[in-house]
Amino acid sequence: MPNKEIPYKIYLEESEMPKQWYNVRADMKNKPAPLLNPATLKPMTFEELRHVFCDELVKQELNDTDAYIDIPEEILKFYKMYRPSPLVRAYCLEEKLQTPAKIYYKFEGNNTSGSHKLNSAIAQAYYAKRQGLKGVTTETGAGQWGTALSMACSYFGLDCQVYMVKVSYEQKPFRREVMRTYGAKVTPSPSETTEVGRRILQEHPGTSGSLGCAISEAVEAAQAQEGYRYVLGSVLSQVLLHQTIIGLETKAALDKYDIVPDIIIGCAGGGSNLGGLISPFMGEVLRGEKDYRFIAVEPASCPSLTRGRYVYDFCDTGKVCPLAKMYTLGSGFIPSANHAGGLRYHGMSSILSQLYHDGYMEARSVEQTAVFQAAEQFARVEGILPAPESSHAIRVAIDEALKCKETGEEKTIVFGLTGTGYFDMVAYEKFHNGQMTDYIPTDEDLKPGFDGIPKFPGNEI
Ligand SMILES: *Cc1c(COP(=O)(O)O)cnc(C)c1O
Repeated sequence: MPNKEIPYKIYLEESEMPKQWYNVRADMKNKPAPLLNPATLKPMTFEELRHVFCDELVKQELNDTDAYIDIPEEILKFYKMYRPSPLVRAYCLEEKLQTPAKIYYKFEGNNTSGSHKLNSAIAQAYYAKRQGLKGVTTETGAGQWGTALSMACSYFGLDCQVYMVKVSYEQKPFRREVMRTYGAKVTPSPSETTEVGRRILQEHPGTSGSLGCAISEAVEAAQAQEGYRYVLGSVLSQVLLHQTIIGLETKAALDKYDIVPDIIIGCAGGGSNLGGLISPFMGEVLRGEKDYRFIAVEPASCPSLTRGRYVYDFCDTGKVCPLAKMYTLGSGFIPSANHAGGLRYHGMSSILSQLYHDGYMEARSVEQTAVFQAAEQFARVEGILPAPESSHAIRVAIDEALKCKETGEEKTIVFGLTGTGYFDMVAYEKFHNGQMTDYIPTDEDLKPGFDGIPKFPGNEI
């Protein structure tokens, strides 16, 4: 190991920024299963998908073979406004924990949207604009994706319509107003503005909504308007591809100082930040060049990897989207009201699902009070006030560092710090007041979700 002093923050020069995204599917022997048309159960074709997504994004979605995909100049230009993001050596946290482990985190909260989601929002808005579309529709849970997309759309002059999960719409008025500042139209979901929204309201009067519902409404809204397409902030392979900017920068920064990580940790909602962070490292493992441990962290209240089934399922509650093969709790599963809105999705990226299934990645579920303990500990020593979602990764990074303390091992731990938590202070308040509870669904609670998984030959749960 060369004896270079590691700075608190490792930045890349602008000239060292990645100019291509890395498509890990190219190096996977077992490719993720294709999206299926729910009516025919045949793989979705380019022609079918282009009615929902814009053309270039469909090509990326279907591309299992090109390892590198050029990042267009306009996107690179936008990236430069808030990237490269720093890779921070958590010296203060290490000291506090008295651990021999070396901890690094890649901080993605340094932009107005407060999370990594801008990395894909800008790409999706760019391709929509280039195709001459008028606007895009989408869903948002906690609001980070809607915020990122509204910023990206205002940059390119596209109309942006956001269906926001009703409970968040009511509890997070500040996020909503950020979106409106960037010109987006925000509708609480389920709403009366779509057929599927009206149906869901009739079946579940008074429901506070879910991501799955909001997706169904956004898809319907896109199809009902000329010149509109639907865009999604996670789960899809195209989103994971855009997020590889995180992992490529991380790897370039580590390489600069000859640092080799032992463990790479990220929180997993739909899988895009984790997939983006680990992709370049996973590629090395898949090609037989290196060996790393990867850990996905999810809430115990929405445990798709640790307790879900690996089957084809609907991506949305209204069952209007294609079927994806993934670890899933069932599209009808509505998680308890935990405070990590971005980790409440019932399924998981089909790329990560396949990698997990093949044993390349571990998964761990954590309870929210333990997550907020870690968040507070981190905030007090590292200064950054983390998002609840990101704090799932902090929890496991701390746990792993404490294990090193016991064994004396000097492991190098890298984790993804996906965003800041300024809009989540109600959750922090509950934690501080001792009003936060840990709810873990029983097998019985999970059963209705599993029962709703589509049944066809080869898709037994
Ligand atoms: C949306 C979000 C996540 C989870 O989404 P992934 O697609 O799994 O990355 C994590 N952290 C933050 C801050 C988010 O906004």
